[in-house]
Parts: sequence; structure tokens; C-alpha cells
Amino acid sequence: MSKKVYLDYAATTPVDPAVFRAMSAFLKKDFGNPSSVHYFGQKAKSAVEESRQKIAGFLGCSGEEVIFTGSATEANNLSINGLLKGINGSQKNISKPHLIISTIEHHAIFEPCLDLKKRGKVELDFLPVDGDGIVKINELEKLVKPNTVLISIIYANNEIGTIQPIAEIGKLIKRINEKREFKIYFHTDAVQAVNFLDCNTDNLCVDMLTVSSHKIYGPKGAGALYIRKGTPVAPLILGGGQESGFRSGTENVPGIVGFAEAVACIQDPRTKIKNIRIRQLRDKLIKRVLKEIPDSQLIGSKTFRLPNNVNFNFKSAEGEAIVIALDQKGIAASTGSACSSKSLEPSHVLLALGLSEEEAHGSLRLTIGKYTTEEEINKVLKVLPPIIKRLREIAGVN
Ligand code: PLP
Repeated sequence: MSKKVYLDYAATTPVDPAVFRAMSAFLKKDFGNPSSVHYFGQKAKSAVEESRQKIAGFLGCSGEEVIFTGSATEANNLSINGLLKGINGSQKNISKPHLIISTIEHHAIFEPCLDLKKRGKVELDFLPVDGDGIVKINELEKLVKPNTVLISIIYANNEIGTIQPIAEIGKLIKRINEKREFKIYFHTDAVQAVNFLDCNTDNLCVDMLTVSSHKIYGPKGAGALYIRKGTPVAPLILGGGQESGFRSGTENVPGIVGFAEAVACIQDPRTKIKNIRIRQLRDKLIKRVLKEIPDSQLIGSKTFRLPNNVNFNFKSAEGEAIVIALDQKGIAASTGSACSSKSLEPSHVLLALGLSEEEAHGSLRLTIGKYTTEEEINKVLKVLPPIIKRLREIAGVN
């Protein structure tokens, strides 16, 4: 059987060998609990603190501003619910806080916000995107109200790879804040951006930023939230007071060590070269598919796009059916976000771009990673056109 081709790096990534090596001691001999006072505990505690410093270095912040969580989903939930909890305690004259998020947020932002709205805890508005999936920054100030407390905009979208002008939005919010009684805090979900884009929190002018380990060749079960000093976030998980009280629970020491090593790998100068190669493979894929498959369309921005993301729409071919057919040929792809692919609902991201429900069902996401080879891309280019042709024949279109 020929080798499997993995083109779903936005869903998750394999652990880098250097990450695995860094973690392994903490799964075996250095297994201590960082809260213990003895040698084993202190060894684990130093490893967690060194990891925190490494990640803080990458984000351009201080160690105490990095809070480890069990996932980016948890970090996103903490950024919203933790901020609201903190604000309710400090700014009593905001009776019902107002949140603004983009229409293309990941479910890990969307769902906690919709839940808060459903329970009558917040007012919620959405910043729309244009047909390319870029937020309409000109409309942001109009959405702001006296009770606005948080704006959360995804840095790079997980389905269509569009990159938002986070630094520009951050500067705009800073200007708006100069005229206000209550500060608006700015959060970005940077999960898909970390491999490729500047994540310096000062450059981006953000108050909170979410990262995930398993999207950057680190292990699953580790994430982090950057919380700028002075941001009134209150903890949601209470217990032993780990993570400076922000997130109780015994730290996932091997996971955190692996996460920090994964971040160190991104900072290696060789990553730039790998990313150039990833972009070249992406461009080859886009160019050839659009040329060789009739009625195919690239979804999302051509310019402001992650170097590893392609998302195609094929007229009259169903995305799920394409993914299954590719899987039968040994190619792992996706119709959109891994977290929502169990749902038969069309993607809210694609609908937000103005696609019809039918078009949204016809999308195929291929995401490239540092282990992707040109042969693998060639295999997709060979296998995909006949799959689309066959599916269109079955659908009675051709
Ligand atoms: N945010 C974005 C943009 C993502 O792509 C994902 C995962 O798909 C998440 C958040 C959730 O990450 P985690 O799996 O670490 O909870």
C-alpha cells in the first residue's frame, strides 16, 4: 500500500522529534508534581517556569503574563468568561457588558459568546467580513457602545486561512479607548497564526492572545492564554491555585515542556525556509487545481492568506464526498474545521463570506505542513480531478 498523505495540518500536527525528546524525561524519570516541595517537584516546577519564559520570549511579554491551559478552547473560554467575571467584580456600573466578535471566529469563541447571549448575560455584535474573509475594519467603531468591554478577532482563520490586520485593529481600539470611561479589551485567537506570523503582543496591541500546542508540532492537551498585566481576568477553574491562581489543576508538565520546545522550533531560523517551501507548494496546488478542474474556485483571500492553507469550492461536488474519496486514495483532507466536521450544518465561516448553503457544502480544505513533500502535492493533483469528475457524473452534472 502506498504511503498515506496527510494534508490536514490545520486540524493537528505530528509531534516534532525535538519536542518528543524534550518531553520524554518528564513522562518518565522527572515525573514530579510542580507543587511538591521535594526534589522531584522542584525539577518539574523549574521545567514549567523555563517553558513559560520561552513562550513569553516568543510573545514578547513577561512570564507572569502567560497562563497555561489544557487547550486553546479553554484559553478562549477564559479570555471571555474570565474577563466578564473579572469586570463584573470591578466595574459595577456596567449592567450588561457588550462583546464584539467577527463573523468568522472559531467555535471556541463563537459558542461561549452565544451561550452568554442566550443566558442574557451580554449583548453581542458581529463584525462582518468581505467576500475574501477580511473583517470590515471601517465598521468596527460604529459597533462600539459605552458598555463594550471586549473585542475578539481571530488572527488567521482555521478554515480559509485569511489573515486579519490585528495590529491595525489593536491600534484603532487603543485610539477608541483614549476617549472612553471603560476600557475595551482586545483578544485574538492566534492558534493558526503562530507557525507563520508575528505574535509579539506589543506589536499586535492585544490584551489577550490564545495559542495551542498541537497546531505547532507540540503535543495535544496544552494551550496558553497571554493576559496583559492589569487585564481584569478572574479564574474559572478553582482549586489548588496553580498558574498564579488563574487556572487550578496540576500542570501538564510534559505537555508544557513539549509546547515550549515547539515554540523554540518556530524561532529556529530554518523555519523561515520551511515556510517559504510550504508557500510554494500551496501556490502550486492552487494554480494547478484552478487550471485543471473546471468550475473550481479558491475561497478566501489570495493575498492575506496563511502560507499553508487552500480551500476550494467545486461546483456540484459535495465536500464530504470529496474528503471520503480522497481518504480512499490515502489522502487526509478536511471540509473545514476539525471541531465542526461532525456537524452537517454548513460552515458559518463560509456563509459569512456570502457563499450559498450549497456552495458552502462543496468546500475542500487542504492544509500543508513542514513534512509535506512535492510528491504528495503531485499525488493530490493526479487524484483530485478524476474524483471531482466522477462526483459530478453521479450528481448528474457534466
Ligand atoms: N482556535 C482555532 C483558530 C483553532 O483552529 C482551533 C482548533 O482547531 C482552536 C481554537 C481550538 O484549539 P484546541 O484544539 O487547542 O482546543
